[in-house]
Amino acid sequence: MCAIVGVFGVKKASTVAYYSLFSMQHRGQEATGISASDGEKISIYKKRGMVADVFSQDILDDLQGECAVGHNRYSTAGSASVGDSQPVFAKYKLGEISVVHNGNLINKQEVRNQLIDKGAIFQTDMDTENIIHLIAKSQKDSLVDRIKDMLSRIEGAYCLAIQSRSKMFVIRDRFGIRPLSLGKFKDGGYIVASETCAFDLVGAEFIRDVAPGEMLIFEEGKEPLSEQVFEADFHPCAFEYIYFARPDSIIDSKNVYQMRLEMGRRLAQEVPAEVDLVLPVPDSGVAAARGYAEGLGVPFEMGIVRNHYVGRTFIEPTQAIRDLKVKLKLSPVKHLIAGKRVAIIDDSLVRGTTSKQIVRMLLDAGAKEVHMRIASPEIKFPCRYGIDTPTQMELISSSYGVDEIAHMIGASSLGFLSIDGLKASLGKEQNYSLVSFDGNYFAGGSAESPGCSGSC
Ligand code: AMP
Repeated sequence: MCAIVGVFGVKKASTVAYYSLFSMQHRGQEATGISASDGEKISIYKKRGMVADVFSQDILDDLQGECAVGHNRYSTAGSASVGDSQPVFAKYKLGEISVVHNGNLINKQEVRNQLIDKGAIFQTDMDTENIIHLIAKSQKDSLVDRIKDMLSRIEGAYCLAIQSRSKMFVIRDRFGIRPLSLGKFKDGGYIVASETCAFDLVGAEFIRDVAPGEMLIFEEGKEPLSEQVFEADFHPCAFEYIYFARPDSIIDSKNVYQMRLEMGRRLAQEVPAEVDLVLPVPDSGVAAARGYAEGLGVPFEMGIVRNHYVGRTFIEPTQAIRDLKVKLKLSPVKHLIAGKRVAIIDDSLVRGTTSKQIVRMLLDAGAKEVHMRIASPEIKFPCRYGIDTPTQMELISSSYGVDEIAHMIGASSLGFLSIDGLKASLGKEQNYSLVSFDGNYFAGGSAESPGCSGSC
């Protein structure tokens, strides 16, 4: 997860980066940072917290220049210190660089051990620090060749924006696991961002997605130069469509809301329920619930109200706080629900915490029957490519069958979208990364080996 942005050839680039990060706050709330370059030096500011709280006008005014890169961090196993936030900045033989990274490198530890053997010292737990070391240690003369050298040593999922004092380099890994799009401003200048919702806010026009395996080089007075560094082996992450991305974003030519609607329609075909009402778990299940209701021909109601002033349930790491947070966040509209048979739709079931609480909440509100439907397949494997799924043991579907889970969460019935149904919803033309569902670790790593503990 995490969000990255890169802005080039635009006045007050740091302000554009700020608004872009603001629109991508959903991709990471733990820390945020921006670095800007005025052609002579790079200035950087990063801190724990949300975008609107971390930056002020004064801070942005200090981040001068027409090139900026920025990052929102969603921590996984890495440490929670501000040192582990991004951009990662360094001075090295060729000058100064600053790097932002979305995704997880699966050979982080191996590369880190090799670097440590050669005397490197690390200040953070992030795999992004490997990237900066590899660039600094490369013996090549130019930065672009050093970046290519570095790319030949890293494996896994990554979208990178690397800023020098005068240029910006943007790279998407050959699997294209995490999204990355290119946009352009009417008055000149470019932007790359993890999600296109950033373009809408800052007034940039979407041009295209960065291709898997592609590097873009931005230099003053020139059109961006594109180079295919690796042969593409495209496996975009299905979870971006299921849960992670914002519904108004377009990822690899597909609108996220439309995809969720379609998953809901197929869910209705695969596991219908005899109910009076279809309710979403807000906000994650809204689009799929509309599709489900449409598929069944049953009314859709916003029967659960969400308090928007509470963060996502995953953010606090202890189980006790997670349980409390579900109640703080969601509340039923009793007069809609009492005496009804309801289907409640969520996008995914991870540990089962949310579902259990919601089923109980609906029964307490007087529902006659509660049928839980999940608009994605059973999550049985941890993702090693940047989606924060816990260890395999904690994934409820890796240990229990559908009926057992229905019983555990107290639902009248439970149903998941099948893997084939998910593929059909997303369209057969791509080979999606379905690792959480089928355990196919095509880009390396395994269910047991953490591989990640990375940036996000
Ligand atoms: P759980 O309560 O553990 O079963 O988690 C399921 C809920 O968490 C669903 O409502 C999802 O929308 C949400 N969810 C799924 N994956 C993630 C993730 N990687 N980070 C945060 N929330 C998630």
